Amino acid sequence: MRDFGSWFGEQGSEKPAEVDTGATAWLRCTGCGKTQIVNLKAYENGDTGWYVWEEVDADGDYEGRCGGSQFCMP
Ligand SMILES: [Zn+2]
Repeated sequence: MRDFGSWFGEQGSEKPAEVDTGATAWLRCTGCGKTQIVNLKAYENGDTGWYVWEEVDADGDYEGRCGGSQFCMP
């Protein structure tokens, strides 16, 4: 039986599948000050309600509008 250390070393170069689909960005609303970490896929699909003027990339932080009140519209 192989020891766990050598097995783990071989597996270490593969990323968990979640990393590819779970990219997120940190957003702050300039209307109400709310901050939220959003899933990029959900943001691109329009599921989050957020509007950000810049292009949103994974692991970035941005200012935008959360869409949660009349002060939070683009
Ligand atoms: Zn807001």
